[in-house]
Amino acid sequence: MTIKTILTEPNKVLRKVSLPVKKVGKEEQILMNDMIETMYNSSGIGLAAIQIGVPKRIIVMDISKNDEKKNPMYFVNPIIKNKNSDISRYEEGCLSVPDQFAEIDRPSSCEVEYLDYNGKKKFLKTSGLLATCIQHEMDHLEGILFIDYLSKLKKSMIIKKLSKQKNKLDRIVV
Ligand code: ZN
Repeated sequence: MTIKTILTEPNKVLRKVSLPVKKVGKEEQILMNDMIETMYNSSGIGLAAIQIGVPKRIIVMDISKNDEKKNPMYFVNPIIKNKNSDISRYEEGCLSVPDQFAEIDRPSSCEVEYLDYNGKKKFLKTSGLLATCIQHEMDHLEGILFIDYLSKLKKSMIIKKLSKQKNKLDRIVV
């Protein structure tokens, strides 16, 4: 397993729409292994392939608590169905939007149809944190980030901050 570099906003690649996977083969499984390792390494609970620069419709997640056994979840070509009209609100962050958080409203439950790690068709009913997390990750597949739900002003402030951080990093490297 290899820890990959996570792309951060602003980066045009994060805005790409990811493409469906034709078949879950060795290549996809290696990608999922790398993704879950990269996610654990950054203490995230979800990661989409596009966040490491691969425009495939693949998501990994693990919402188990620190003191619980790890519970990696793999979603290939996920499709969300039957979103609930009730809303739940979480303070969301994102590995591609480092150190920024905002309260985001999303449907409180939904169903997901997907292929698992072995390419088997699966169906999952989600609610609470799991529902929010899968919806956040699904957005990545469409090139959407959680900051897109904020006001223009708030979003541009966050992007400015992130750009500054990037420039600073570059200066140190040079
Ligand atoms: Zn994210």
